[in-house]
Amino acid sequence: MIKQCFMFLGALLLLQATAFSTAQAAPEHSPWPGGIAIIDIGSGAEPPVVTLGDKPVLVMARDKRWHAVVGVPLDTSAETLTLRVADEDVGIELVSRSYREQRLTVKNQSYVTPGQAQLERIGAERKIIDTALNEFRPVASDGIELAAPVTGPRSSSFGLRRFFNDLPRAPHKGMDIAAAAGETIVAPRRGVVSATGDFFFNGNTVILDHGQGFVTMYCHLSAIDVETGQALLAGEKIGAVGATGRVTGPHLHFGTYLNGTAVDPAILLAE
Ligand code: ZN
Repeated sequence: MIKQCFMFLGALLLLQATAFSTAQAAPEHSPWPGGIAIIDIGSGAEPPVVTLGDKPVLVMARDKRWHAVVGVPLDTSAETLTLRVADEDVGIELVSRSYREQRLTVKNQSYVTPGQAQLERIGAERKIIDTALNEFRPVASDGIELAAPVTGPRSSSFGLRRFFNDLPRAPHKGMDIAAAAGETIVAPRRGVVSATGDFFFNGNTVILDHGQGFVTMYCHLSAIDVETGQALLAGEKIGAVGATGRVTGPHLHFGTYLNGTAVDPAILLAE
């Protein structure tokens, strides 16, 4: 009888181990520029309102307590980030981090030094993109873990200070996933399509709103299979990998944003 009990326990432990190995790892407190600060802000009945400057901040439940999930701006040089939690200031100590340089060559010089007509187009597109990246939809958060939108080798190029044809340009605000043109890209968790377009630098682009300022972006697609306003479940197809916009070859540029600031997707991705 005792032996049978142990066998049962063994089978149960094995089941649990299997469940753990397939579960997504919970993102951890990553308090550096381009990282995500996750801090305990109490256990009241209602989630406290949290802001960073004028930006509302995502609040989620974890282990039965409220946690603020803050995108730390890539360009911050401060040692402390000050959050407003309800009517109190809360300081978050930051860890410094420096990012390497990346030098890229593109054949089409207009991607490095755009002309007047292109600058006007870029300005108009910037407004559409910024609006989508700064959206704050007040829904309850069901977490921040992300499944991979496409399988393939992931670059660790987030935050790199970039030079195109030797000219300094904006830092790289995402992760590049190498995959062949035509590979299926899926939603990494449920969300609503907040923008799509064929943009000058980003090529064919889809932006997903996961609620409370948690936004993901997919660039350089060969095809877009969703429309603005469409609700998606995790795993639903949003488009296909391509090489549209400013690229050196086919890949998915995957951007992740919290409180309007770009954060390193590697922190949010399960294995
Ligand atoms: Zn990229």
